[in-house]
Amino acid sequence: MQDCIFCKIVRKEIPSKAAYEDELVYAFHDINPVAPTHILIVPKRHIVGVQTLEREDESIVGHMFYVARKIGEELGHAPDEYLKGGYRLVFNVGKDAGQSVFHLHLHFIAGRRMEWPPG
Ligand code: AMP
Repeated sequence: MQDCIFCKIVRKEIPSKAAYEDELVYAFHDINPVAPTHILIVPKRHIVGVQTLEREDESIVGHMFYVARKIGEELGHAPDEYLKGGYRLVFNVGKDAGQSVFHLHLHFIAGRRMEWPPG
């Protein structure tokens, strides 16, 4: 997509701080972090969001979660025995849910204690 900001970031036309990259996804640090670690995991192919997912997109979404696990381990946020540490993974789906960029992205948020329910 020509005008999509995340497509431009994927193409390196807009600078970003990389966290992970492979042939399918690019992960970079959020410009306005809500926690000490805030990374966006983005498919390189343009998908608007969860609201437009097709059956053919199932594998890329699974891969995004696998990359989240890898980032968690690499940055030392993996839960210890599923008790200590950890991170939050978020898809905002639609404007009322807080989606502001309409290119699918998984928020990886860590480094502080999370509250529930989210605001
Ligand atoms: P959402 O509100 O769920 O659509 O998330 C979009 C996220 O993209 C927000 O957390 C923004 O801070 C982030 N963002 C917007 N522009 C950039 C950019 N140029 N580089 C990094 N993160 C960005």
